[in-house]
Amino acid sequence: MSECIFCGIMAGRIPATTVYEDEHTLAFMDIGQVNPGHVLVAVKAHVENLYQLDEEQAGAIARASLRVARAIRDAFHPQGLSVYQANGAPAGQTVFHYHVHLLPRHEGDGMALIWPAKNPPRKTLDAYAEKLRAALGKA
Ligand code: 5GP
Ligand code: ZN
Repeated sequence: MSECIFCGIMAGRIPATTVYEDEHTLAFMDIGQVNPGHVLVAVKAHVENLYQLDEEQAGAIARASLRVARAIRDAFHPQGLSVYQANGAPAGQTVFHYHVHLLPRHEGDGMALIWPAKNPPRKTLDAYAEKLRAALGKA
């Protein structure tokens, strides 16, 4: 079985350019650099996706993302910042070890996300919300 790339980075077997580290997270430069200052904030343990994170890891990722996002703002002065996180191949995930993209944005930078809004009627929103409240145990 081939090694998880990000586990290799965590263990120091695969080189990476790191910017921040704490008990649960490591932030390093995305090798693809869609725009300058593009950072990945990854959980240290091998956790494949959002569903597998525990609350402590989730909190650590949120805190690390906030700190690094502010550093990107101060160091690169982007016009905007996209926070992107994919779960599963249909969502665009290519490395199956949980990570958050912090991506500096500029007008006309060529980054595109097609957002095919369906704008359903309110009763459809109500039905969707009812399913979710039931799943949350709030129905
Ligand atoms: P995903 O598509 O899973 O959300 O994002 C995976 C990201 O990991 C991509 O943006 C890709 O450029 C980055 N990546 C893939 N392999 C490596 C690597 O070996 N080192 C670093 N630093 N980034 C990587
Ligand atoms: Zn891994």
